[in-house]
Amino acid sequence: MRGLIIGGNWKMNLGTPEETRVHLKELVSLTRSVNNVEIVVFPPFTTLYLAKELTKGSNIKIGAQNMHFELSGAYTGEISPKFIKSLGCEHVILGHSERRDIFHESDELINRKLKKALQMGLTPIVCIGEHLDERENGKTKEIIQYQMEHTFRGLIKEEILKTVIAYEPIWAIGTGKTATPEQAEEVHEFIREFLSQEYDESVARAIRIQYGGSINPTNAFDLFKEKNIDGGLVGGASLKPDSFHEIIKAAERIHDLE
Ligand code: PEP
Repeated sequence: MRGLIIGGNWKMNLGTPEETRVHLKELVSLTRSVNNVEIVVFPPFTTLYLAKELTKGSNIKIGAQNMHFELSGAYTGEISPKFIKSLGCEHVILGHSERRDIFHESDELINRKLKKALQMGLTPIVCIGEHLDERENGKTKEIIQYQMEHTFRGLIKEEILKTVIAYEPIWAIGTGKTATPEQAEEVHEFIREFLSQEYDESVARAIRIQYGGSINPTNAFDLFKEKNIDGGLVGGASLKPDSFHEIIKAAERIHDLE
């Protein structure tokens, strides 16, 4: 059985020590009795160290929102996966649509980062998803397939198995417009078909695929109960400990049903 994984992507929010302290103290206490759901919070780089300290001995793991594809060098303003790893972080988000669209990150660049993250023993959460016009023009699967072919290029079976995929339709991110469970499930199923063709059926069955895009406490359960959806990557609703906790509880309920 694939485990459920819930990620909280803070983006460029809550990055001061005080905000981090207040938020994580509450979240640690709310999630104390959570079982069977992997919880990963992604704060800004400035507060990763503190976040790790605050979550010691809790159910919450801490990850980074991005990284560079080299371990060191003349890359002003960039963060090495080695630094992330040295803090005890296990996860890193790669290829978020905001990185792709605002900072022009290509599939090829994300592929380099992905290979380095895996070499460093980090668990990458790789985001893929289509724009609104692409969906409206019936191109969703074509885009998803292209992104997977290029982002995962050259990964062997053992590597892809360590990767988490986040299907995040871009039109649903931060817009309040969620994909319906059926729309999301259709793409998740397609992703597994692709993995089955590129690798094999066991890989397709084993990989965790999160949904992301305006998840909230009201829609989370219906999304997570779909067969091919293994939890979610949450932006806006992860900024409030109680709403994030409600989403985690929805994942727990799914686990209990299985
Ligand atoms: C995200 O940033 O990955 C995301 C899904 O954001 P939101 O939940 O706010 O749509």
